[in-house]
Amino acid sequence: MKIIRFRHGGQSHYGVLEGERVTALAGDIFVEKRVTATRYNLAEVTLLAPVQPPSILCIGKNYKAHIEEFKSQVPPSPILFIKAANSLHDPGAPVPLPAPELTTQIDYEAELAIVIGRTAKNVSAEKALDYVFGYTCANDVTARDWQAQDGQWARGKSLDGFCPIGPWIETELNPADLRVEGRLNGVVMQSSRTSMLIFPVPYLISYLSRGMTLLPGTVLLTGTPSGCGFARTPPVFLRHGDVYEVDVEGIGALQNSFYLPGKA
Ligand code: MG
Repeated sequence: MKIIRFRHGGQSHYGVLEGERVTALAGDIFVEKRVTATRYNLAEVTLLAPVQPPSILCIGKNYKAHIEEFKSQVPPSPILFIKAANSLHDPGAPVPLPAPELTTQIDYEAELAIVIGRTAKNVSAEKALDYVFGYTCANDVTARDWQAQDGQWARGKSLDGFCPIGPWIETELNPADLRVEGRLNGVVMQSSRTSMLIFPVPYLISYLSRGMTLLPGTVLLTGTPSGCGFARTPPVFLRHGDVYEVDVEGIGALQNSFYLPGKA
């Protein structure tokens, strides 16, 4: 089932997407998905980030080839960082690039994102997938110079709009071996499979839930494959007019353009 969040008539709703048909949902989607009689065509609504997460948790350096492009070592345990709530961004919505005097090293990261569905505390890896609501695509947009200079990554990962997610949540999906691809202006820049994750989805949920309660709606980005712009020769950073697509097998494609505010 594809779960969306959308705007229509100035209000936001959750809904189920079947083909081009949207059926509005009522109530708390994590408790019961209550179907209403209200229906729309997909073309009539504006898609929003498919969930408003209480936390956006992210795993760094989780694909070996990406670690090699950092000239770094495989971490002994998952590296956790956060993206702040202001970074959440809608599918299809243009992402503002920061003013060039702040940073010009804006990079893309195609990722599978997990949406937690039930309060998870001390769950085993064997039971971890029972706590998943579904999966979506995410672009972990990053200011590389800020990431490097801060040591802590949160600021360079949390500029406004730097966490587009969507276009929907797919609730029926096995995350074990999905193709994760990133395309810049239609050209494939990143391509791997979730079977290459150093710490796979069930392990990540179990590991994090040992110390932190994962609340319903929490979004967890699982890490990005190699092919990032900073590691290329010459480096490729996002510029005004660029379009980046994150395509995860079994979900679909999240597409966002990038623009410099004030530039025509
Ligand atoms: Mg990332």
